[in-house]
Amino acid sequence: MTRAHAGFTGVVQHEWLRPRGWVAPQHVAALGIDTLPGVGAALAKRLRALGIETVLDLLQHRPRRYELAVDEVAISQLWGDDEVAIAGVVQDVRTRRLGGRRTIVTARIKDASGMIGASWFNQPWLAEKLTPGTHLRLRGKLGRYGFDVKSYDVGEAQATADFAPVYPASEQVPSTKLRDLVRVALALVGRYLPDTLPAELDEPLACDAIAAIHFPRDEAEAEAARRRLALDELFTLQLVVARSRDEDAVATALPEPGTLVDRYRDVLPFALTEYQERAIAEIDLDLARTVPMQRLLQGDVGSGKTVVALYALLRAVEHARQGALMAPTETLAEQHFLTLEPLCAQLGVRCVLLTGSVGSKKIRDEIASGVAQIAVGTHALIQRDVEFADLAVAVVDEQHRFGVEQRKALAEGRSPHVLHMTATPIPRTLALTIYGDLAVSEIAKPPANRKPIETAWVGAERSSAAYERLRVHLDAGRQAYVVCPLIEQSETRLARAAEAEADRLRRAELKGYRVGLLHGKLKTADRREVMRQFKDRELDVLVATTVIEVGVDVPNATIMIVQEADRFGLAQLHQLRGRVGRGAEQSYCLLISRDKLELTDVAKSRLEALVQTTDGFELAEVDLELRGEGQLLGTRQSGWSDLRFTKLRVDRDLIERARALANELRDEDGPWQDAADRLGEIAGA
Ligand code: ADP
Ligand code: MG
Repeated sequence: MTRAHAGFTGVVQHEWLRPRGWVAPQHVAALGIDTLPGVGAALAKRLRALGIETVLDLLQHRPRRYELAVDEVAISQLWGDDEVAIAGVVQDVRTRRLGGRRTIVTARIKDASGMIGASWFNQPWLAEKLTPGTHLRLRGKLGRYGFDVKSYDVGEAQATADFAPVYPASEQVPSTKLRDLVRVALALVGRYLPDTLPAELDEPLACDAIAAIHFPRDEAEAEAARRRLALDELFTLQLVVARSRDEDAVATALPEPGTLVDRYRDVLPFALTEYQERAIAEIDLDLARTVPMQRLLQGDVGSGKTVVALYALLRAVEHARQGALMAPTETLAEQHFLTLEPLCAQLGVRCVLLTGSVGSKKIRDEIASGVAQIAVGTHALIQRDVEFADLAVAVVDEQHRFGVEQRKALAEGRSPHVLHMTATPIPRTLALTIYGDLAVSEIAKPPANRKPIETAWVGAERSSAAYERLRVHLDAGRQAYVVCPLIEQSETRLARAAEAEADRLRRAELKGYRVGLLHGKLKTADRREVMRQFKDRELDVLVATTVIEVGVDVPNATIMIVQEADRFGLAQLHQLRGRVGRGAEQSYCLLISRDKLELTDVAKSRLEALVQTTDGFELAEVDLELRGEGQLLGTRQSGWSDLRFTKLRVDRDLIERARALANELRDEDGPWQDAADRLGEIAGA
């Protein structure tokens, strides 16, 4: 097992306890997080909320940063505002209530040189722990009222140690707890972690890199470990891309644009923007070839991608072939259908909807015979029993939510030209590296008639003022969204909470207004009816869960309130906000957060960024900064986006290297194939 290798020699020595029973390396990945000693059902649930399902997930939970190396100073020497550590003994402790659920615990700490008061906010349980005589080590700095504690250790020093890992903030599982769990996990399975890189490369072992990334001796060691793990994950990712490449696929060439798309331009009530025109020109070039188009069309919410997508679909129709548009959810598919169908009708083009729950045998027959020229739907469209007469262009909306398998199914057998649309803007170079096999078109600016949405961040205590503002818009004949808090993972509980909230609002803040409700558990017909009512102004307000995130298009809706906005991710808030500001009117987004004192720094930074800019590309950069690239491109499960260690902006060289390696090893046997299988499976799920 041991071999000489570069780097990570003196990493933390962990004890090597065997898990009960023997675990093959490839199965370590699958050990449930609840198999760890000390992880009960409740903690396991909270860990799952962080995306940690398995022991390997835990070990791959990258620290966001490390504590700096600081000096330990005598209490009497405390001065200035540098971060330092002090150590001493608790003299006495007291707890005060600050109103509401806010508390402050103050302890007096004494060392040989003097005494100082140290304060903790909102951790009342600490009072019991800090009994007089307890030895403490504190990290923090001198504040106005004594020592402002950043981290502390009772007994054996860990949290205040230099380079102690600090994990992405969560109120559910504090960094200290994660630190302890990671130690246990490393001790139990650290040595069993699989290595995907070929031994000939002489890279450090993955298991050493994992240990070093959690408990490095210094920043340099942490960074070297990160890059080692980044290479691993990029290699696996590029391998999946390399394996799915179908070099023999042939598509129908669609030369010169014809009269149908000319008429389409005439039917549109506006002129296309420069960016839309450029994307269209790029698409036309792709369509003229027999190599299937694989293009990513990215642009912010509301930047006008759908208009471009329909253009591509019509290009197929005018050559007497078919187009298909696929969305990741039924709601989105329906939204697209409601947008496309009227335009198609004006052009005399037959457009149909097919989802899991909508779509009769008749529709299938129409698709099979070619009577249906454009089909809109969910992945139901690429299921085996749906035959297209002659599918030439497929548009996939939010492609990162589609798995590799689905992408393959689309490309195989039928080899249409494929346009992937995404509203999660990422800088072009990054897009090219992640979607290694896609060309990129970008709609960098929305149509000029649009005024940037004005965003305000409002603390919970001022939420009634926010609703007042909302009512002013309603009274002026505008419509509004209210987004419910993201409290539960389960769709059912979310739906129930949304129902309760809608009822509450109908009786309170929104009394007298027509309030509709939209959530993921509504039956398709009901959901469509609610959307229709909102579109036709039979409803003033739409109370909704995040199902309105993408695709809903009601230009008369000019104001949105997001409740407990601090619970949402940056990308998600940006997407939600994109539901307003879709007409020429000035629109507003009011982000109501919980008490500002209770928010983590990351949550505050997110909300501040949203107030400052509406530029999706800029926000993407902030998101990268705040949370690492992991979840930027989609959900954790999407596989494609699951970059835990890569820093795209600084790891370009690794991306190149990973791609070269993947091409070289694509057809060779080795542990890398298993890793690619696993990733492919996740991505395809
Ligand atoms: P996306 O799909 O990128 O979210 P859409 O294509 O749905 O954006 O367009 C958003 C809104 O902007 C729609 O109401 C659409 O009709 C309108 N729109 C699109 N292109 C233009 C344009 N060039 N000028 C004015 N309005 C446009
Ligand atoms: Mg759209």
